Amino acid sequence: MNIIFDRECLNYKERGHPESPERVKAAYDFLKQHFTILAPEPVTEEDLRLVHSARHIDKVKTGNFFDFDSPTYENIFHYASLSAGAAVKAREVQGFSIMRPPGHHSGKNYLGGFCYFNNLAVAVKKSGLKTLIVDFDAHHGNGTEDIFLGDPQVVYISLHRSGIFPGTGHGSRQNIFNFPLTRNTGDEKYLETLTSALQGVGDMEFEQLAVSAGFDGYSRDPLASLSLSTEVYGEIGRILGGLNLPTFSVLEGGYVVSDLGPNILSYLNGLKK
Ligand SMILES: [Zn+2]
Repeated sequence: MNIIFDRECLNYKERGHPESPERVKAAYDFLKQHFTILAPEPVTEEDLRLVHSARHIDKVKTGNFFDFDSPTYENIFHYASLSAGAAVKAREVQGFSIMRPPGHHSGKNYLGGFCYFNNLAVAVKKSGLKTLIVDFDAHHGNGTEDIFLGDPQVVYISLHRSGIFPGTGHGSRQNIFNFPLTRNTGDEKYLETLTSALQGVGDMEFEQLAVSAGFDGYSRDPLASLSLSTEVYGEIGRILGGLNLPTFSVLEGGYVVSDLGPNILSYLNGLKK
């Protein structure tokens, strides 16, 4: 298993912002003891256009936008292109990208929720393969839903907490399967929901599994806790690994700096068994 990472992604920050370089730096320092680290290359604008409108790409490039959660950092176009490139690399080697910024709140035409480009979506579209996407970040991946709604090549499954940002993902439609959950869900109910969600698409055939791996459902998470333990991420990994598909994962959220690395390790240990 390879981890995709480049220190460049630590170079932007805003004071007090929960999506901090410290969270990814701590995860990197922890994971580098266990895995080989590969460096990504930025995607091209042509790659970004597989997913995003020219207007949106231009907006990120020029910094001509305002979003309270997703500030206009200097060189954010480069960092966002590099993070999308890390998802592409993760797909190529069936690894895990821990690059920032995250991606699943960015839609065809918009950024938001710390996300500028939809990293996972760029990797999926570029592959052209029939893909099952599982999003276990505790926020709904509204951007990923926006990009893939009605796409015959993709099925999207999201488990997320209801009543928090971004306020979407209440119901399922077409190829989009949403499972809203409450704050006190806990491990058992979570795993039951994931298992039945996967059974629901059991008859379909996929060529790969793409995972939006967010760790903010963790019990101590300040933003989106679903009362989950570190161990449950190992179970999630085992369940997803049991699908026996070529698999890649990209980091989304997870805001307990000291526990992000151990939670990712738990997931990856489960996945490879
Ligand atoms: Zn999240």
